[in-house]
Amino acid sequence: MTKEQAIILINDLRKKLNKWAKEYYVLDNPSVDDTEYDQAIHQLIDLETQFPELITSDSITQKVGGIVSDKFEKYTHKYPMLSLGDIFSWDEFLNFNKQVAKITGTKDNEYTAELKIDGLSISLIYKNNVLQNGVTRGDGKVGESVTTNVKTIKSIPLSIPVKDEIEIRGEVFLSKTEFAKINEERLINGEQLFANPRNAAAGTLRQLDSKIVASRNLDAYLYYYFNETNPINTQFESINQIKQLGLKVNPETKICKSLDEIKAYIEYYTEKRNELDYEIDGIVFKLNDKNLQEEVGYTAKTPKWAIAYKFSAEVKETKLLDIFPTV
Ligand code: NAD
Repeated sequence: MTKEQAIILINDLRKKLNKWAKEYYVLDNPSVDDTEYDQAIHQLIDLETQFPELITSDSITQKVGGIVSDKFEKYTHKYPMLSLGDIFSWDEFLNFNKQVAKITGTKDNEYTAELKIDGLSISLIYKNNVLQNGVTRGDGKVGESVTTNVKTIKSIPLSIPVKDEIEIRGEVFLSKTEFAKINEERLINGEQLFANPRNAAAGTLRQLDSKIVASRNLDAYLYYYFNETNPINTQFESINQIKQLGLKVNPETKICKSLDEIKAYIEYYTEKRNELDYEIDGIVFKLNDKNLQEEVGYTAKTPKWAIAYKFSAEVKETKLLDIFPTV
């Protein structure tokens, strides 16, 4: 392909992707499914890799998706809220692990395996025992303060038994059961149906009327923990700490100590995902040791110490495994 041809294709892809991102992140109303979006963004990444001189800082491949609406007060994140790199096959996981191994010096890295809940990111800031702020990811640097709405979520405590300033992050979502109930009601009322639980959750949390939010039974699983006064050394301990503070963590989270365990986790949940009452679009593997995480580092958009393994259509036969420690 010539550079001129690449410029035409790149411009076309960026235009299309920016439109889809606005529909998804701002309007909570996508017009294409995630697979089509993912294919287009990977095509753009491939072209930008082939012609790096055509990468621009405002390209959608260089930014965390999401825009901050004027409807809500803005909140500058203390630590950026990043996206995740994604992979679609076991070979790509091995490649990811190889990059991590260059820093850690071993291929036998310990990862947490967490289900990738299909909702929207939330950051909760507690200080002096009290929930002070609930903030969306926004563009990763600045989010929307949706505190009043967050306070209506029954599984998010308004106070915790620790005074330190603590930031806890995770995913707000709607169960499949709640989603079906909401769409049934909307059908009866002649309102436009939500495309999927993720968009229903995002549309709900970014509602101006918190009575509507309260009526919709949003839920939240939390997974990141920041406490500068009493820092924690591993991702798995973070999750246990969040649980001890009274917030919900996903019970399917495990530690994987070998590539075999990682493979088994993927195979097991690829099959089991439809039995869960919430949607997941993959599995997130995070290097467990936080010091090693910092050594492996970040890109502008993603941590290099974590990866989202996205499910493909193919479902493999698996055996139930109970060899991992559970949260
Ligand atoms: P992403 O959703 O693929 O991954 C990052 C997000 O995963 C995090 O921000 C967090 O909210 C979430 N997550 C869930 N469980 C997690 C866990 N256990 N640990 C860490 N994070 C967890 O990335 P993105 O940048 O938010 O969005 C890209 C996704 O959105 C793609 O899947 C894409 O298909 C979809 N999208 C679709 C359209 C469309 O038009 N259909 C448009 C834009 C984006």
